[in-house]
Amino acid sequence: MLRLTDIQLPLDHAEPAIRLAVLNKLRLTDEQLLSVTVFRRSYDARKKSAIHLIYTLDVTTTQDDELLQQFHSDKNVTRTPDTNYQFVTHATSEHFLRPVVIGTGPCGLFAGLLLAQMGFRPIILERGKAVRERTQDTWGLWRKRELQPESNVQFGEGGAGTFSDGKLYSQIKDPHHYGRKVLLEFIKAGAPAEILYVSKPHIGTFRLVKMVEDMRATIISLGGEVRFSQKVVDIVRNKDAIEAVVLENGEHIATNHVVLAIGHSARDTFEMLHERGVYIEAKPFSVGFRVEHPQSLIDRCRFGPNAGNPILGAADYKLVHHASNGRSVYSFCMCPGGTVVAATSEPGRIVTNGMSQYSRNERNANSAIVVGITPEDYPGHPLAGIPFQRALESHAYLLGGSNYNAPGQLVGDFIAGRASTKLGSVEPSYKPGVQLGDLSSALPEYAITAIREALPAFDKQIRGFAMADAVLTGVETRTSSPIRIKRRDDDLQSLNTRGLFPAGEGAGYAGGILSAAVDGIRVAEAVALSLNGLK
Ligand SMILES: Cc1cc2nc3c(=O)[nH]c(=O)nc-3n(C[C@H](O)[C@H](O)[C@H](O)COP(=O)(O)OP(=O)(O)OC[C@H]3O[C@@H](n4cnc5c(N)ncnc54)[C@H](O)[C@@H]3O)c2cc1C
Repeated sequence: MLRLTDIQLPLDHAEPAIRLAVLNKLRLTDEQLLSVTVFRRSYDARKKSAIHLIYTLDVTTTQDDELLQQFHSDKNVTRTPDTNYQFVTHATSEHFLRPVVIGTGPCGLFAGLLLAQMGFRPIILERGKAVRERTQDTWGLWRKRELQPESNVQFGEGGAGTFSDGKLYSQIKDPHHYGRKVLLEFIKAGAPAEILYVSKPHIGTFRLVKMVEDMRATIISLGGEVRFSQKVVDIVRNKDAIEAVVLENGEHIATNHVVLAIGHSARDTFEMLHERGVYIEAKPFSVGFRVEHPQSLIDRCRFGPNAGNPILGAADYKLVHHASNGRSVYSFCMCPGGTVVAATSEPGRIVTNGMSQYSRNERNANSAIVVGITPEDYPGHPLAGIPFQRALESHAYLLGGSNYNAPGQLVGDFIAGRASTKLGSVEPSYKPGVQLGDLSSALPEYAITAIREALPAFDKQIRGFAMADAVLTGVETRTSSPIRIKRRDDDLQSLNTRGLFPAGEGAGYAGGILSAAVDGIRVAEAVALSLNGLK
């Protein structure tokens, strides 16, 4: 099979144009071209009046080898690489201490799935509830201002990304094509097949719920066990090797292999691990606000006369500004046609985030506008980023009126340095509500200064970005983990605790659904090799 890259066609091309483009490129007759499949489709919107689609195609012909020779100097014609996933090993006996996976976010789910597929019957422990019950609890905060500390946007089956836009792209290096294995498993579990070829796939919240249930059923059918409302509160170490995990109900589960896929909000678990002597260090993360604009403004600015074209969908953006005080400000987790959500897991605190449905057809576009911070901003202790986050989240709760409303301010007022008193044309989507006021005390002064400078700079790239009526809500503090639980490069085990495999976003090894799932696969392989005595 051959792979053709950079095949460009107009946005409104008819279906047969793809085959025709291949025939022309390879100078083949119709009979010589046996099949054409789309591997990737992206678009180039730099010229708004002439947006075109860019395809990567996999084709089979009657003369693949001859064509490879004929086009040997053309980097856009190559042999299609083998992207099929191969298991590194399989369980060879029934007699092993079962591996434990802590967490059912994308990292834990994929670690659990892979271990189950390799025959290692993992025990998967999740502090939160099963996804249907969890959905009700999560809506309880959004609708009734009732937070369940163990069942919310951060905790419960499916992990932090369950109520999200379900964006499935990442910039990680992926030489073994694990990302493709993730997408194929997602499709088996009910994701739309297009996630395999569109350049920026997304799933949306409703489908994610069903997919997570499907993956759980697969793990159980392969001999795995998935337990909910089972928080791990302690570990037992003997001579720097893990021997058991301890649940809140006092149960000890003996094991020599623990995948720690606990996400970035398991602050109590981070503290417990640190007390038990597991090596942890502080790491950089970012803080900021969510901003909301009319989606139509973003669409017009990005796509011009092609705004609204169904192939393009709702437009996204990615913005960066290097502020004169040395801070970097950037847009993060942009949700086209979505809503801003209350994402705290702790009472008396406010955290914002964003989500969309598959259709991305809500009125507003939102993204986090965040400022990079480093351990120098919260020095002294490996876990010092946590009280730093907590202080901002508690202050935001006070600014919002101490009832789970988020504090908000119009962009025009924020830039001018005056409090907002009434909304303009943009209605914020955050539920249960937004309390307008002054956000200048919501973040450290250097972050406020940098964001004030960045918004007008972003307006030069997206005309209208600094529109007076756009709404900021705060605070966005859980952009990534404030710590890294360091692991060795060779066997992926903790630097000082054998059998402990720190993984995913919470341990500092992923920054999104796809990268967390890929890390879950890598760690499952490391666990399996160790269980079979191969590493
Ligand atoms: C609202 C929202 C929208 C997002 N949108 C996107 C998006 O569109 N695209 C994207 O790529 N990323 C998105 N993200 C980020 C993404 O969700 C995370 O990067 C990803 O979920 C990290 O996966 P993980 O498995 O490492 O951790 P998590 O998903 O956080 O899962 C950790 C799990 O461990 C459990 N746990 C924690 N401690 C314990 C314990 N002691 N015992 C038992 N269980 C425990 C938790 O309950 C949780 O279920 C979003 C996040 C949020 C909150």
